[in-house]
Amino acid sequence: KLHNALLELKGNIRVFCRVRPLLPEDGVNAEPGVFSYPTALEVLGRGIDLMQNVQKHSFAFDKVFMPDASQEEVFVEISQLVQSALDGYKVCIFAYGQTGSGKTYTMMGRPGSPDQKGLIPRSLEQIFQTKQSLQQQGWKYDIQVSMLEIYNDSIRDLLSANRSFADIKSPANRSNRSCFSPASRSCSRTENSVAGKKYPIKHDANGNTVVSDLTIVNVHSSREVSNLLDQAAQSRSVGKTQMNEQSSRSHFVFTLQISGYNESTDQQVRGVLNLIDLAGSERLSRSGAIGDRLKETQAINKSLSSLSDVIFALARKEDHVPFRNSKLTYLLQPCLGGDSKTLMVVNVSPDPSSVVESLCSLRFAARVN
Ligand code: ADP
Ligand code: MG
Repeated sequence: KLHNALLELKGNIRVFCRVRPLLPEDGVNAEPGVFSYPTALEVLGRGIDLMQNVQKHSFAFDKVFMPDASQEEVFVEISQLVQSALDGYKVCIFAYGQTGSGKTYTMMGRPGSPDQKGLIPRSLEQIFQTKQSLQQQGWKYDIQVSMLEIYNDSIRDLLSANRSFADIKSPANRSNRSCFSPASRSCSRTENSVAGKKYPIKHDANGNTVVSDLTIVNVHSSREVSNLLDQAAQSRSVGKTQMNEQSSRSHFVFTLQISGYNESTDQQVRGVLNLIDLAGSERLSRSGAIGDRLKETQAINKSLSSLSDVIFALARKEDHVPFRNSKLTYLLQPCLGGDSKTLMVVNVSPDPSSVVESLCSLRFAARVN
């Protein structure tokens, strides 16, 4: 297929840009004539022109989604990438952008409106549907999910707290049907997420990542994963009140580990799909920030610039890739290098008051692109 041929030609890193629609809260309508959309930000095919004062900045992407692009249209462009996780590829899809630019909308969608489901629920539906149809060709898949957030360069397990065993669909019963995943991994859970727990990350010889003590749940339907997503969201919002809008100040990492085995052909595949809603990229002024807020700001800036450094080094096929500079890049190391596939979706707001932030996001993307 042409799409795949392009993918091959372009290597394993692609960058999309999505411009969200203007929202009433942007307040643009309140001052008509001061700025009129789309003067500040213009989309031309795969390019974007951004006007800052009288200066025009132009950027090109693998794909640009206009403000009216539906979730369905975005997913169509990403579904093959999602599919490749079932073929044994390691895939990372990131949503990057300032707070309010549409990262969570892109990843999760709008709660309660099914036609506005985001990439995560759509990916799940596709994966479980394909899993079903591949059974006819002798494939059996084990799918495991974990969800964590990285805040101040520490990991928080979003599936561990206050969770009853009943929530976990009897993994023990299923384990005899599982393909080849070690029993110890079929369902590990911790009693509760103790603050300060370290969750050390290890990469084994087979290129698999093991985060000690992290809850990993065997899942058999997209419905089951949706329930876990709800639970993770609750777990995040608990932290949010405690920790000052933590959800936009932390990275959310959703991971599906997909192991497939075909008895008739004796083929094995092991793919990973990581869907990551990054912390808001807005430059928080260092001058005003003190104490925890300063530490938080530094942690976000450092991890986002580490991510940019890693992707940049990979795109240029440099010998040294600085994976170890942040927990985020170290966690995802096996899924970023080698023949894994990476997609960065850069979300920007068309709100003229966001021009400086949008310019930063587009520059970030231009660097990784
Ligand atoms: P972020 O996660 O980057 O902080 P959100 O995803 O929460 O931003 O988006 C901010 C607001 O904009 C939300 O109310 C969201 O529903 C809305 N929004 C974002 N992108 C779109 C879009 N493509 N279409 C419609 N509404 C959107
Ligand atoms: Mg968000």
